[in-house]
Amino acid sequence: MIIEKFGSQVPKTMDKLTSLPGVARKTANIALSNIYGINEGIAVDTHVKRLSYRLGLTKNEDPVKVEEDLMPITPKEEWSNLSHLLIFHGRKVCQAVKPNHAECVLKDICPSREI
Ligand code: SF4
Repeated sequence: MIIEKFGSQVPKTMDKLTSLPGVARKTANIALSNIYGINEGIAVDTHVKRLSYRLGLTKNEDPVKVEEDLMPITPKEEWSNLSHLLIFHGRKVCQAVKPNHAECVLKDICPSREI
């Protein structure tokens, strides 16, 4: 489809990207920010979803709603960085089963530090 419909260029817009089979907002956000430096939204994967909830930034579980909660409280130029930082923190420190509260730099402000 990229070859035939978009002249062999990865599309530069959310609408065009999400018209591709298997591409939803998460993948489209990653493509736009990493290929073109465009912050159209915030890529919400399992880490971003979990950490946003634990940090009290959202009460939602649906990734699109989590994204909608994160965008108004984060400067647009940091949207890509925010996603990367939450993913790295989720992999290294705030893991799903056993979050390492003691070693966490966010423990003083995190409402979930006792879980
Ligand atoms: S204090 Fe605990 S729950 Fe909160 S972000 Fe850090 S590791 Fe995760």
